[in-house]
Amino acid sequence: MAIKRPKGTEDHLPAGSPKLTLDVSAQAHGWVVETARRVLERAGAQRIDTPLFEEADLVKRGVGGSTDIVRKEMFTVYYFGDHGGYILRPEGTASIVRAFLQNGLKQLPSPLKLWTHGPMFRAERQQRGRLRQFHQVDYEVLGGSDALVDAEAIALMVGVVRELGLTGVRVKLGSIGDPEDREAYNTYLRDLFTPHLERLSDDSRDRLTRNPMRILDSKSEDDQTLIAQLNVKPMLDFLGEDARANFDAVQGYLRDWGVEFDVDPSIVRGLDYYRRTAWELHHEGVGAKSALGGGGRYDGLAEQIGAQAVPGIGWAFGVERLLIALEAEGHPLPAQAGPVVYVAALEDSLVPAAAAAALASRTSVRAEFAYRALKPGNAFRDAERRGALFAGLIGSEEAAAGTVQLKNLRSAEQFTVLLSDLPDFLAAQEQAHLDPTLNSPAHPASPVILENE
Ligand code: AMP
Repeated sequence: MAIKRPKGTEDHLPAGSPKLTLDVSAQAHGWVVETARRVLERAGAQRIDTPLFEEADLVKRGVGGSTDIVRKEMFTVYYFGDHGGYILRPEGTASIVRAFLQNGLKQLPSPLKLWTHGPMFRAERQQRGRLRQFHQVDYEVLGGSDALVDAEAIALMVGVVRELGLTGVRVKLGSIGDPEDREAYNTYLRDLFTPHLERLSDDSRDRLTRNPMRILDSKSEDDQTLIAQLNVKPMLDFLGEDARANFDAVQGYLRDWGVEFDVDPSIVRGLDYYRRTAWELHHEGVGAKSALGGGGRYDGLAEQIGAQAVPGIGWAFGVERLLIALEAEGHPLPAQAGPVVYVAALEDSLVPAAAAAALASRTSVRAEFAYRALKPGNAFRDAERRGALFAGLIGSEEAAAGTVQLKNLRSAEQFTVLLSDLPDFLAAQEQAHLDPTLNSPAHPASPVILENE
């Protein structure tokens, strides 16, 4: 085939596709997002969606002009009459903070918990788990600065991952202190690295003047060798009294709630608007260098992109990376539910009647039909291939009587049901199938309250 999808992108495929794996399964992506939605909405988070492209200035200020994302990885949007003033969003936080400020969301009860999900764009070099269009689930809390807000955010991120059934996840927790703590740390780093200027990469020499902390994040192996040789003290040694108390409080809540974590002094965030709590979520299946997700407090961000100061904290995880981790743990693809009924006509003239029966059934259940007349054996085979619970047949006798002949493909039970009763009958059968106790003689007609998820 001549035309292929762009490098660094993936097609999310339907069930049954030959090249299906968890990370490219459209259903698995939907399942991750749905699971996150459930966990986050239980905690009071509200859904927000922002545009996929934003003003370049927002991305530059919100992500940081000195970051690789802004310097090397932005997709600029051009269209007729425009000069490329827009950028495909590389992450969600800046947009959500912009939307909060622009739409007066400050008037809603505070702290305001928001969540979103969707594609993010970074022109990175493609590898497994590193895409140019990838997908994130994103949680942000605006308006609260207590350690409790931070601990809850971390617990919720772990909660989503647990609800997905992922076990081998580690939280690496750090703190980057208050601005004055970071200033003290940067002074220390500047004094430490300046005598070794000639050994630093070009990027890191630049960072030494602008933001020495970002040297610690360097991807250059030579920089990392130097960092190891210099025995650099961690940021945690420079926390002031307030930031230290806050860090201790966050840890205390997490311990109380049974959320496991490791304090990791190497967690740093180079940009000015970050404060205090920062963490990453790691999993062996994804590799040490690639996090499943990360989060942090960014109390200085709103001021950076708007007028008012609003404290905030948030996290995002990569849906593809989560799916890779789930695959590494041997999770099966989530099963695609087949139709409750697959209706087939036995004669050409009855095909419209089969279609009508399926359409009527859709008021209560998943229902499909055959687009041409089939022999009973072929109807059963096609119904089974689609994973149907019932095959429905309409021949001349059924058509005359206004009925459909149903066969339960798992139990082989047969039923003749009036077309007008079909939606209710199938809905009851589906419930019984989902909850087999409904069919058991021990509970002949007792009402059953189903969990409403
Ligand atoms: P970040 O916004 O850089 O902190 O990234 C948060 C999470 O998004 C990461 O931990 C990854 O799970 C995911 N992520 C970031 N960049 C990519 C990418 N290029 N491809 C796939 N996932 C990514």
